[in-house]
Amino acid sequence: MSELLKSYVGGHFQAGEGGLAALINPTTDEVVAQTSTTGIDMAGALAYARDTGGPDLRALSFAQRAELLGKASKALHAHRDELLDLSTLNGGNTRGDAKFDVDGATGTLAYYAKLGSTLSETPLLADGETELLGRSPRMVGRHVLAPLHGVAVHINAFNFPAWGFAEKAAVAWLAGMPVLTKPATSTALLTARMVEILIEDQVLPSGALSLLCGSAGDLLDHLSWQDVVAFTGSADTGLKIRSNENILRQGVRVGIEADSLNAAVLGPDMDDDSELFDRFIQDVAKEITQKAGQKCTAIRRILVPEAMVAKVGEALAAELAAVKVGNPAEKGIKMGPLNNGQQLTDVKAGLDALRAEAKTIHGDGGRGELHAVDADKGSFVSPVLLEASDGLNAKAIHNLEVFGPVSTLVAYDGSAGQSAQLLGLGQGSLVASVYSDDKRFTTDLVNAGASFQGRLFLASSKVSDHVLGPGAVLPASMHGGPGRAGGGEELGGRVGLKFYMQRLALQGYAPLLERLAH
Ligand code: NAP
Repeated sequence: MSELLKSYVGGHFQAGEGGLAALINPTTDEVVAQTSTTGIDMAGALAYARDTGGPDLRALSFAQRAELLGKASKALHAHRDELLDLSTLNGGNTRGDAKFDVDGATGTLAYYAKLGSTLSETPLLADGETELLGRSPRMVGRHVLAPLHGVAVHINAFNFPAWGFAEKAAVAWLAGMPVLTKPATSTALLTARMVEILIEDQVLPSGALSLLCGSAGDLLDHLSWQDVVAFTGSADTGLKIRSNENILRQGVRVGIEADSLNAAVLGPDMDDDSELFDRFIQDVAKEITQKAGQKCTAIRRILVPEAMVAKVGEALAAELAAVKVGNPAEKGIKMGPLNNGQQLTDVKAGLDALRAEAKTIHGDGGRGELHAVDADKGSFVSPVLLEASDGLNAKAIHNLEVFGPVSTLVAYDGSAGQSAQLLGLGQGSLVASVYSDDKRFTTDLVNAGASFQGRLFLASSKVSDHVLGPGAVLPASMHGGPGRAGGGEELGGRVGLKFYMQRLALQGYAPLLERLAH
């Protein structure tokens, strides 16, 4: 019998009434849990969080809330092995991929715990310097941030059930807002257990954390003007949320983290005999295969000077051929399955669309050679590398996010101008990376294409040994991107707090303002 997951609303666990959705093990296709939100009082869930969790959290200082984050991080870390196993069971993650999600979650909570311990002792947070408003030094103005009095509703994608939950919750809690988290139904098992641990250990005040395990139902119709929604998922769902009538009418703040056609650019100065070239190949191969390519920051487009396309294709094909695909619970397996049959269908359809504009360099999009997997079981697809026939005029390659182990080589003429133009065809990305020791090229590319993405990762021989690859989202740097990527801004240290707080201009007697916020 599979487990029946419960939501946690109004201060107690509650199962839905019928209409159960099945959560599967994507390696074996077995049902591992079921869940439903039918019959859950969404308005009541929001009201409890707003009226019980909100005031209790706001009564704490930043430092006290930071302590809660530290406790949450430790409580979850204490169950690390169990959480890693659930990530493999319901997410198809290898041990390495599971750590990326689970350790990313506890690490982000710990980061915000540390940051919070350095913040103001006052309830308000100063944002910028004090400015004179007239001739007298007594009357001044300052921007400050005040925690919103609503609920932070977090709607997450299936690919990061641990990190997605924690990276949003850490920032909201530190800002002083209660959280109602809704994981994607298909991988909710891991988030549900994390919430259970935090509730069992009584880490947070009652109402500071609620969980919806299953469909969002009519949740959005009960949001109020002090609530916020932080959404991660597909652009299509993002559009539905953004255009929800109640959200528009109430002016509910919405943050969207959506699709992204991220790119890596090999500079014109790179030949295949440098360490930086090797690093480029390793990073790109990792971004194609980590979490079977189901990563919002994965590299979908590989921009390479024309003269280097063949060498890059060869080197990447060799790396991809060496990736052992199969049962993610087995040692030595480097890539597991996609998350479910629907993802597999979508990836195959996406591949067909890409192939109309590109030739295949490696992989046929089939199951490939699998290790320790039953024949015909699981949602497996082997890594695929394509090469665009005409990058500048391609459509699907720049617009269609195939959410699997798939990437396309795109030739460019070696100029910063054309590589920036190609970046821009993605219409807004989370991250682009540049691998070059040519400072002129990198500077020109950054200046020409900076506004097309939320993050630029500049790899050069000076730093390539000292950093994680471009796919790692670090809490100190902002995560989000313009256009197709949704226009959201998450994390970024203190910057991330702004989403959960009202910025206002305080004007008055200088010592009073100093007392209110510093
Ligand atoms: P999805 O189908 O859009 O679902 C995302 C979330 O939205 C799920 O929790 C889903 O719940 C919920 N949802 C669906 N319809 C809704 C509605 N009408 N109202 C409220 N919530 C609704 O996306 P996904 O397949 O889980 O994730 C893959 C996508 O996420 C990819 O496109 C990827 O690029 C994107 N992604 C982006 C980032 C980023 O940071 N930019 C990070 C990770 C993933 P149910 O599961 O219950 O349907």
